[in-house]
Amino acid sequence: MSPEGQAPDASTVAHHVAAVRARIDAVAAGRDVTLVAVTKTFPASAIADAVAAGCRAIGENYAQELVAKVADLDRLTAASTGSPAPRPEIHFIGHLQTNKVRMLAPVVTVWQTLDRESAIDEVARRAPGARAFVQVNVSDEPQKSGCRPEEAAALVGRGRDAGLVIEGLMTIGVMGDPDAARIGFRLLRSLATSLDLHGCSMGMSDDLEIAVEEGATHVRVGSALFGPRVHDPGGDLR
Ligand SMILES: *Cc1c(COP(=O)(O)O)cnc(C)c1O
Repeated sequence: MSPEGQAPDASTVAHHVAAVRARIDAVAAGRDVTLVAVTKTFPASAIADAVAAGCRAIGENYAQELVAKVADLDRLTAASTGSPAPRPEIHFIGHLQTNKVRMLAPVVTVWQTLDRESAIDEVARRAPGARAFVQVNVSDEPQKSGCRPEEAAALVGRGRDAGLVIEGLMTIGVMGDPDAARIGFRLLRSLATSLDLHGCSMGMSDDLEIAVEEGATHVRVGSALFGPRVHDPGGDLR
């Protein structure tokens, strides 16, 4: 699969980044919230534009697409400066297949979707000491990835025992129902706090205010920065 989506031009991306930051700041009450710019289906230039607009964290969902895109990004930045620019933090936010961990390990900075023992063990083996989040399905929707809330403590413990740096919990909110989304985000925040975890990755383009109000430390935002996604081969949010 090749990223073929049309992203807006660099100055439009910069405007969108500023607008999303303003939305975050309006509800963050001075807290520091990391904006993870989700570039799936868009070309490497979208990553470069987001970085130029001040984003330090990039989110990607698909293994092949990500690996190809990082190579493109290195070429792109080398073409203008002679050597590849330092890469932004790459957060893997898609469903993690165990057999993709090996190819992902050289490019992923933060593994946000660890939701079962086999994935944790494989990441610990291929990317020793890596930064990670445990993904929790707080809404009990069967089609969604994520462990059950009552499994989170054991998975966090397993990750820590395996030498990973577990920074927090991650969830995908209930779509289209702000009240249900809020309840889920609140559950994730209290679960993270009870496990001594600072990080809470929750909230996307449509529900980021609710997530930040409920204590998100990371929001993952795609369409509000880059526009609608035309090609999404894997289907969103699995
Ligand atoms: C695609 C995706 C996002 C971004 O969604 P938008 O609605 O475009 O902001 C966030 N999180 C995950 C896990 C995703 O797959």
